Amino acid sequence: MSRPRTVFVDRDGVVNRKQPEGQYVNALSDFDLLPGSLEALAGFTRSGIKVVVVTNQQGVAKGVTDESVLAQIHSQLRAEVEAAGGRISQIQVCNHLAGSCDCRKPDVGLFEQARFQDPEIDFGESAVIGDSESDIEAAHRIGARAVLVTGQPGGSVRPDGTTEVADLTEALNLLTEPDHV
Ligand SMILES: [Mg+2]
Ligand SMILES: [Zn+2]
Repeated sequence: MSRPRTVFVDRDGVVNRKQPEGQYVNALSDFDLLPGSLEALAGFTRSGIKVVVVTNQQGVAKGVTDESVLAQIHSQLRAEVEAAGGRISQIQVCNHLAGSCDCRKPDVGLFEQARFQDPEIDFGESAVIGDSESDIEAAHRIGARAVLVTGQPGGSVRPDGTTEVADLTEALNLLTEPDHV
């Protein structure tokens, strides 16, 4: 399999620690980066792979996540990745309620929006890295490679072709290993 040119990276549970079910990251202080995630994001950039963050944030529609806080979190994340030597090309957010739009993953609107903004993006040369089945389903729908972050070492390949990894660092290693060149 060839090395992807773009990685679509889910946010909560991949870049930062996920909040307990039903809770959202509503403050800068709730945004708790997972170990190695900044370095891994920078590693994709260094490997010539475009990074697009795609995230469901229905807390905005529910009125519990403040959009200005979300924007603040994302500008800080961009700055931290840049300080680590990387670059986030785009951050695409679905801030709608489940069932009310066509962009909440597993729907593919966020991916299409990213490609609309950057026509160089080719879904067939992309990978989706996420910690939820909705990320994996979205990967299948756009025809991208699926990488599931499980938090558990010793990942395997599922019958549907999804590769399991412990974290974003392992995802970087998998997608940039020499036999992918
Ligand atoms: Mg997630
Ligand atoms: Zn949406």
